Amino acid sequence: APAISVRGLTKTYRSRSGEPVTAVRGVDLEIHAGEVFALLGPNGAGKSTTIEILTGFRTRSEGQVQVLGTDPQRPTRAWRSRLGLVPQETGDPGVATVREAIAHIGAIFPRSRDVDEVIAAVGLQEKARSPVRKLSGGQQRRVEVALAIIGRPELLFLDEPTTGFDPAARRQFWDLIRSLREDGTTIVLTTHYLDEAAALSDRAAVIARGRLVETAPIDEIGPAR
Ligand code: ADP
Ligand code: ADP
Repeated sequence: APAISVRGLTKTYRSRSGEPVTAVRGVDLEIHAGEVFALLGPNGAGKSTTIEILTGFRTRSEGQVQVLGTDPQRPTRAWRSRLGLVPQETGDPGVATVREAIAHIGAIFPRSRDVDEVIAAVGLQEKARSPVRKLSGGQQRRVEVALAIIGRPELLFLDEPTTGFDPAARRQFWDLIRSLREDGTTIVLTTHYLDEAAALSDRAAVIARGRLVETAPIDEIGPAR
């Protein structure tokens, strides 16, 4: 079975003023184990909504969804422990240092990666003893990636992971994603950067105004339209 299977996924929000906003319309998608899949599209296209539904943080309006054999609307702890997520909006970093924050999450999972290996993988060795809240935005994003991978997830979701990164940090992040793929991690990332999708993914889908307009091997996806 595919790692992720989506049929006819639709999400309609009710805006504060009361009108419905259909963020995702009739999306069909199959993502296979071991693949890096990019969901490519402009702001407001429906990428975050899709990720939130696949990870069980948001209800859907219509359609069928299976993620690692489970409906995300009926999550179990065992299922959740197989997923990693870097959400688009990140929470209050609190007072913990980088090392403390990562070790704290690592302690929850039975097969966690080594804390120092993860810190090195995201390039934060020099910041291990700094409070997370004192780091730059790009560095805090790398902490979020570390928190998402410490538990050795089979399936990793990354929502706009490199927004705010400088070019060197972006390249270093790309190397990390490639090494996670080598480890067998299935990865779904959203991005509005075509070059990022091209550098990392096996296949990509372009989403625009909630509809999937193209799903193809990455070298067949044209420039963003
Ligand atoms: P993307 O991640 O591609 O930027 P989103 O999934 O965040 O797109 O948003 C898709 C559409 O849904 C946008 O029109 C956005 O304003 C709307 N939207 C997102 N979240 C909500 C919400 N909680 N309530 C109402 N509308 C929302
Ligand atoms: P769920 O999908 O988990 O059932 P919703 O996201 O539909 O819950 O409900 C959250 C409510 O918060 C929305 O109905 C909307 O009124 C409000 N809201 C949250 N984020 C946004 C946003 N970006 N734009 C407009 N309204 C929002």
